[in-house]
Amino acid sequence: QAKDKGKHCYQFFDIDSAEAAKSRRDSLEAIANAIDNKEFVLYYQPKVNIKTGVVVGAEALIRWQHPTRGLLLPSVFLPTIEEHEMSITLGEWVIESVLEQMSIWQAQELTIPVSVNIGASQLQGNKFIAHIADALATYPAIAPELLDLEILETSALEDISRISDLMNACIQMGLKFSLDDFGTGYSSLTYLKRLPAALLKIDQTFVRDMLVDSSDLAIVKAVIGLAEIFDRGVIAEGVETKAHGDKLLSLNCHIVQGYGIARPMPADELPAWVVQWHLNPTWTA
Ligand code: C2E
Ligand code: MG
Ligand code: MG
Ligand code: MG
Repeated sequence: QAKDKGKHCYQFFDIDSAEAAKSRRDSLEAIANAIDNKEFVLYYQPKVNIKTGVVVGAEALIRWQHPTRGLLLPSVFLPTIEEHEMSITLGEWVIESVLEQMSIWQAQELTIPVSVNIGASQLQGNKFIAHIADALATYPAIAPELLDLEILETSALEDISRISDLMNACIQMGLKFSLDDFGTGYSSLTYLKRLPAALLKIDQTFVRDMLVDSSDLAIVKAVIGLAEIFDRGVIAEGVETKAHGDKLLSLNCHIVQGYGIARPMPADELPAWVVQWHLNPTWTA
């Protein structure tokens, strides 16, 4: 009887995994169609120096403008394609779109540095350098120095010396790197030591609770201290209130990004937002 039961269970498991496989195939197909139909869009979230009041850049964040489900966040679709070649296709689209957008803004008299999120598989793909060089050549009016590539410290950066070589090749072209979600990875200090990243981006989970949780505050202070010692810049993400900003200022971290300044917005809203912020910088909370 136990054997029967085992068999029974096995059958259920089989059906489930067949369903899971089908659902994954459906999702992949939907994303492939969405790429063809140009349903992906980039939103931009400002980065501000709250000591000087200057807008220092914007981060491009992908969304899927789904025909029936509305605006979908990356957590809904990026994990599906993480190990798939489609993440390369989409990553290339992001870089090309950012450069196109920067030239549109430049024509509107807004020259602003833009940060682009780069997945580990994208950076390690063998076409990455050639593609970004091509893309930059297509937009000769955009200085490569205006591009900052945020790499996820948490992502599986398999071969650290290869990653570091790839980063150096990009730096030769004028690009810069940030270590995104810094502090959440399992080998932050090794990455810090070995990767030529100009900026550390303090993960929002530490920033969000630093006013109420002393160990989060300790981590925020430690990352700011590491940035100083290693001569890197530092930026805080997930800054939701002025109280967060004041605390960060007191800790000597001046560059912040978060809902307290502005939520990610459609590209065509950014120029007016920048003008407005420079006239009258006001926290939303
Ligand atoms: P990330 O790069 O760490 O981006 C920060 C995320 O925090 C964004 O979520 C942003 O909308 C959100 N955020 C910003 N300020 C606040 C705040 O004050 N409070 C809170 N609670 N959240 C805030 P989003 O847009 O959903 O993106 C999630 C992640 O998806 C990004 O994390 C990044 O890792 C990835 N991602 C986004 N766009 C791209 C892309 O074009 N390519 C790749 N490879 N990954 C992307
Ligand atoms: Mg990022
Ligand atoms: Mg981050
Ligand atoms: Mg993140």
